Amino acid sequence: MRETGSAPASIGVLTSGGDAPGMNPAVRAVARTALHYGIDVYAIHEGYHGLVEGGDLIQRMEPGDAEDILHQGGTAIGTARSKEFRTRDGRQSAARNMIERGIDALIVIGGDGSLIGANVFRQEWSDLLAELVSSGEIAADVAAEHPRLRLVGLVGSIDNDMSGTDMTIGADTALHRIVEAMDALRSTASSHQRTFVVEVMGRHCGYLALMASLATAANWLLIPEQPPPDNWAELMCRDIGQGRAIGRRQSVVIVAEGARDRSGNAITADHIRTILENELGEDARITILGHVQRGGAPSAFDRYLATLLAHAAVERLLDDEPDRPAELIGLNGNRVIRSPLMECVERTQAVADRIEAQDFDGAMLLRGGNFRESYQILRTIQQAAPKPTPAGRKRYRFAVVHAGGLAPGMNNAVRAAVRLGLDRGHTVLAVHNGFRGLRDGDIQELGWMDVSGWVSYGGAEIGTNRYVPTGDAIAQIAKQIAAHRINGLIMAGGWAGYQAAHELHRNRDRYADLDIPIVCMPMTINNDVPASELSIGSDTALNSIMADVDKIRQSAVASRRVFVVEVMGRDCGYLALLSGLTTGAERIYLPEEGVTLDDLTADVHALAEGFHSGKRLGLIIRNENADPIYTTGFITSLLDKEGGDLFDARQAILGHLQEGGDPSAFDRIHATKLTARCVEFLSEQFESGGRASAMIGYQSGRLQFTDLTSYPTLIENDVQRPVEQRWMERRNLERIMRG
Ligand code: ADP
Repeated sequence: MRETGSAPASIGVLTSGGDAPGMNPAVRAVARTALHYGIDVYAIHEGYHGLVEGGDLIQRMEPGDAEDILHQGGTAIGTARSKEFRTRDGRQSAARNMIERGIDALIVIGGDGSLIGANVFRQEWSDLLAELVSSGEIAADVAAEHPRLRLVGLVGSIDNDMSGTDMTIGADTALHRIVEAMDALRSTASSHQRTFVVEVMGRHCGYLALMASLATAANWLLIPEQPPPDNWAELMCRDIGQGRAIGRRQSVVIVAEGARDRSGNAITADHIRTILENELGEDARITILGHVQRGGAPSAFDRYLATLLAHAAVERLLDDEPDRPAELIGLNGNRVIRSPLMECVERTQAVADRIEAQDFDGAMLLRGGNFRESYQILRTIQQAAPKPTPAGRKRYRFAVVHAGGLAPGMNNAVRAAVRLGLDRGHTVLAVHNGFRGLRDGDIQELGWMDVSGWVSYGGAEIGTNRYVPTGDAIAQIAKQIAAHRINGLIMAGGWAGYQAAHELHRNRDRYADLDIPIVCMPMTINNDVPASELSIGSDTALNSIMADVDKIRQSAVASRRVFVVEVMGRDCGYLALLSGLTTGAERIYLPEEGVTLDDLTADVHALAEGFHSGKRLGLIIRNENADPIYTTGFITSLLDKEGGDLFDARQAILGHLQEGGDPSAFDRIHATKLTARCVEFLSEQFESGGRASAMIGYQSGRLQFTDLTSYPTLIENDVQRPVEQRWMERRNLERIMRG
């Protein structure tokens, strides 16, 4: 529930500075939330230029206005740079345009420049109004009704360069674009044994370059925060050369736009190519990804993030208090957070200042733990071989096994386990064919290059299935563990995997060989395992559902049609809720809530009313197990009959398409990072002689380990889902977004 406070007269929303995918979902969410609370909302077109110019550039939004922009890239209300707004006269004109329409609250979606400008405007507000009163442009009593400007900022920027939020709106989509391009480049580079030098955006921030490297297995990375040693050209040639020697058919160097050497000289793609050609005789090609990175439909995460933050921004304006500074709304873990806007701007600029002052450790420190951890993992994974193990260090053996349905990202987990495990001096074994393979001894040692190229593969190279061992199979597994001298196990999988891992753990008193540390890692598109708020694979599935539904929407428009789309999830409605939120569905049916006849009747009436008043398509998302009687076929037939001449209804069962496809950037990175923590967990157990077993997962936005012994208490008895499902908190947001 929203706290109560004084409400603004009307809200204005604008997008400013560089465009970013996700700005449209943010504008839509501002409009829908404001209208939900009965507040007038104005779209200010062309950023601050529109605010200064006024006229038709400031338009009141009607309920249907933002209906079709959720899936569009860029910003439908336009963005511009405005010289006038930098002047006091310009800002005075902006204030007048706002007062004339009763607007005294602004949501600015843009980069740090736009937010600084907004803050200047806010500070001057009362003076600007006093000047407008004294020049007779507005009446004193009107000015008195708007004593202050309420301001909330959202960061729309593909660079993910802003303090105050883990992710900026647009960064995830940009990563999608980069990863798509890099996957395409890899196949051509591999065919010709070429080296590609790829320049990605990021003048002061290496986020995109770093994450793209982690998600695509780049061999060398150059970012502004961490310039290479002075002999970098030699080191780069050494590493690329070693890669060739061990059989890599392609090499990729990623360079952020703002990369510099330790003396502050720019390192350009051209420069790198020349070095590679001269020193290694490499056939090197440059690809500058440029504006492609800004383009295209917003990813599922960006649609979700923008919707969540924009909704929170409106609620914050409704509770404004006079003495509060302007705030920035951001994401921390999975929570919406608010921070003083100017503090965020200052902290952001401090990184650029550190870089300028050549204090690179300071810059890395300010970027945060996540950034530093990713950098360290990348440095290890991209080596041509593991570090030599110090003499006398005991080598441990751990195995990786999948179980449950297929989840994109599984190969990334095995790849990371192999490389990070070998680098720590362990022996890494892959169990083929799930727990059946563990029972039958289908176990193979993997070397550094055995996982080469796995970074972008969908599917699961070592196989997965839903087999859960019981009875004699447990004894057989204990024997195999002893025979293969397995000291620890990483189970990277879904529901069946957690059951199986717990079975082994539960039986450790009966079979001493099972008394080894086991760590479970959440990998399932359903997001239905305990001790984790977000499982790997669900982001890819969500993007795949969203892309299909975007296409279905287009086809439905042509023929006044309602589509009932069935999505996976078994007894967990996560995919249904999130795909509904990110595709703008009218109705979502979840297994947590079931379906009633009253629901269906209400839906028929709502749809009929909508189509009567000009609606051209309807979209209903139904989880596969939402109700045993009111199936997707049933609901479709019902709607088709009741729609009469007004609309027809069709069903689309997306089925196994949702488990396929190459993993998204997010799932690749997430799989790699969680695996790193699992390897660390096992290593600590090995070295301390510990026997703890755990489930790893994000909880309240932090990576945590939960004792595997508690597994039975964390799941429902009769259905396949955990007791705690934090994402259900977004149900209300989804209701408001339906408009
Ligand atoms: P970004 O928001 O992407 O960082 P810019 O730095 O270009 O983009 O800023 C966008 C717009 O914000 C500028 O064109 C200008 O109108 C406004 N702006 C930026 N800085 C200020 C400032 N110090 N005072 C007033 N307006 C500003």
